[in-house]
Amino acid sequence: MIPFIDLQSQFARIQPEVEAAMLAVVRSGQFILGPEVAKLEERLADYVGVKHCISCASGTDALVMALMAKGVGPGDAVFTVPFTFMASAEAIATVGATPVFVDVEAGSFNMDVAALERAIEALAKADASIHPLPRLPEAELKALKPKGVIAVDLFGLTADYAAINTIAAANGLFVIEDAAQSFGASANNARAGSLAEIGCTSFFPAKPLGCYGDGGAIFVNDSELDTILRSIRVHGQGEDKYENVRMGITGRLDAVQAAVLQKKLDIFDDEMDNRQRVAAGYAAALASEGIDVVAPAIPAHHISAWAQYTVTARDAAARKEFQQRLNAAGIPTMIYYPKALHQQKAFANLGYRTGDFAVSEDLASRVFSLPMHPYLADEQIVEIVAAMKA
Ligand SMILES: *Cc1c(COP(=O)(O)O)cnc(C)c1O
Repeated sequence: MIPFIDLQSQFARIQPEVEAAMLAVVRSGQFILGPEVAKLEERLADYVGVKHCISCASGTDALVMALMAKGVGPGDAVFTVPFTFMASAEAIATVGATPVFVDVEAGSFNMDVAALERAIEALAKADASIHPLPRLPEAELKALKPKGVIAVDLFGLTADYAAINTIAAANGLFVIEDAAQSFGASANNARAGSLAEIGCTSFFPAKPLGCYGDGGAIFVNDSELDTILRSIRVHGQGEDKYENVRMGITGRLDAVQAAVLQKKLDIFDDEMDNRQRVAAGYAAALASEGIDVVAPAIPAHHISAWAQYTVTARDAAARKEFQQRLNAAGIPTMIYYPKALHQQKAFANLGYRTGDFAVSEDLASRVFSLPMHPYLADEQIVEIVAAMKA
């Protein structure tokens, strides 16, 4: 049985170190923030290549806190993609703002920058003939104030921030990088999390760097943003615990997770190398066996964190056949994501319709993900690809 994600092999590798680190936190009695969290933040900031890392309770909280720090609220619009995990758009709605969706491109699974430009223009003119917009009452739509962009690094590949940052700056918008799936990735030697004004990541166990519970982090270079985010993380605290200067949340990372993450960081570079090995192995095997799927293509000077190895089948029926064959051979597959966010009931209030984001809808009907983790052996990759053959 080949696991989809193999946290057991990883644990076996670092078990004594992880157990000792967890026990040390319990014995110290420092459970919330404290020295382990501070040490982790320093290491993460260093790894990502930014001045400040603010750890937090989840990737979702990272996005919510980032939006709060930028003062986003009701009446504001934030552009994001519909082909992503719920949290990317949910965070926008959580602070009371309106998500305005922008389609992805099929090759990278990431935001289509030409569509972003059209969406910005369409909203400015309240003209949905330029680009699909939320079907809100006209006065409400016209009153929406565009504030920013949340771009997502889907499956571990960074979005095109050179273009996105330029378009955003020209339109007075901030950019948040949703790097929940891309911690460890890079573009032109700059690490994921550092590619926009604010980077947000997740340490959910199944992410490239995962803890043993929920966790996340925010990356910024701006010291003022750092101060605001640290305040938001603890109920908007001021100079001390019982002074509150703004609205905040309970957004802290706990010390046990910080200790676990440091032990995982110790082997992270090696794990990233192995993810590259597995991805290269899949690409070679899929090509040599002539499997009729589109394998992920990584642009030059980019390194993916390979949160997922996602292939695109010819159509929905072909996807179903591949999944059945793999399942029969005891090989798990997953569909990320079977439904685009504009088609989710949770966003029905935005009034989007099927057909609004054709690329996202098409991908949702055809993509599936193969087992991907650093401990997948070369022989297992060959076995998985062989099982895909008719
Ligand atoms: C996992 C994920 C999140 C949310 O992270 P949590 O830690 O689960 O809250 C946000 N965005 C994307 C793209 C994700 O994959």
